[in-house]
Amino acid sequence: MTLREKMHREQQLKTLFEQAQRHAFDYADGALERNVFPSAQALADLGQFDEPLPAYSGDAESILTKLHSHGSPASVAQTGGRYFGFVNGGILPVTLATKWLTDFWDQNTALHAMSPITSKLEDICEQWLRQLFNLPDNTVAGFVSGTSSAIFCGLAAARYRIYKNHDWDFNKRGHNGAPPIRIIAGRHTHGAVVKAIALLGFGIDNIEWVDCDDQGRIVPSAMPALDDSCIILLQAGNVNSGAFDPLHEICDNANDANAWVHIDGAFGLWAGGTKRLSHLTEGMEKAHSWSVDGHKTLNTPYDSGILLCCDKDALVMALQASGAYLNFSESRDGMLYTPEMSRRARAVELWAALKYLGSDGVDELVYGLHERAVQFADELRAVDFEVINEVVFNQVIIAPSEDDETTQSIIEAIQQSGECWVGGSIWMGKKVIRISVCSWVTTGEDVSRSVQAFVQARQAICGK
Ligand SMILES: *Cc1c(COP(=O)(O)O)cnc(C)c1O
Repeated sequence: MTLREKMHREQQLKTLFEQAQRHAFDYADGALERNVFPSAQALADLGQFDEPLPAYSGDAESILTKLHSHGSPASVAQTGGRYFGFVNGGILPVTLATKWLTDFWDQNTALHAMSPITSKLEDICEQWLRQLFNLPDNTVAGFVSGTSSAIFCGLAAARYRIYKNHDWDFNKRGHNGAPPIRIIAGRHTHGAVVKAIALLGFGIDNIEWVDCDDQGRIVPSAMPALDDSCIILLQAGNVNSGAFDPLHEICDNANDANAWVHIDGAFGLWAGGTKRLSHLTEGMEKAHSWSVDGHKTLNTPYDSGILLCCDKDALVMALQASGAYLNFSESRDGMLYTPEMSRRARAVELWAALKYLGSDGVDELVYGLHERAVQFADELRAVDFEVINEVVFNQVIIAPSEDDETTQSIIEAIQQSGECWVGGSIWMGKKVIRISVCSWVTTGEDVSRSVQAFVQARQAICGK
């Protein structure tokens, strides 16, 4: 049998896909109860993957078997209810099922000519997001891999526009001899924003840093005088405290100066799509570009970021693409709004999430994360843990000890318990535990059970 005949047979028989489904269901059932972080045994078993590149085509069924027996146990139980590390997310069942179906489509979302259906659903997502976030009518969306990429696009559009306003065609002339652009960011700006600043050639040392308050919010009175060469980076959701910059006031001042505002709201922008938390993002509609993830708060599968921008020309010109074979159409050609050309059909999962939840469901999902974060903080306070931040959204910062080393030991003890997973951070110069409630799966019981793991870890390390 040739390789092609073998693959043709696999495709026809479909038993491989049934096998994958069995493994997936087995995994899903186990993920709710097993250790959140893989056991030492599971980690040691990863050695099973150390082998030379095979010389010959293998057996697909045994590849899947190997992946399930040695790969599944070494994954983090992210789909269970007790993962609170970083700011990740969960996965809504409907989005996972959508991903399965669309995996069979294997669409390339670059052009309408490549995939009318994904072009259509990107369009619908764009309209719905504009409506949900109450953004200007001319706002367009680019569907990228994550917020890091979305920030990059937003800043590239800002750069294009500011230079254009100063009669400088950046695409042609580049940075050499260009008029200066000022970059203004809060001291608590996320590393992904700083990365985009560096990638785009603005230079990290050129950032005008603005002081923040004890929650990590920009202090408006600390803002420098603005002018039409400024790009201002605001934050909707501090990655540690969950705090929101005062968007309203700063956007008003920026607009008076004809400056560009980008709001990084990787997980926090969704507050603006709710009824009960939208006070946090008040004024966000006055910015020029926004970055947000589907894969965090909204619980779509990973690899789903969105750049929203109310200056379509600047965005499209900044990400400009050309090629004689590219036939742009009257309909949406997704690659015009993204740095990539070929892309998977990630917007279909986003569409499924929004179609399934509706605006009421977005409110219920996001407010639910907030409620569980508040519960976490309350229950931890009740057993004498110090909660450092105002729990305005889904993030809780805990200082379990005055001593950084002790805090680190407590973090490790919690992680090793397998009961839940939380990470550490540095907050105002002090080692802390950060909790991020990001998944729809997390219940009040998961929270209480995790609080017990905190108590036991402190007992083990501090003896009280
Ligand atoms: C996660 C995060 C990012 C980066 O987003 P990715 O999707 O991981 O690229 C940027 N900013 C904030 C505030 C974040 O929480």
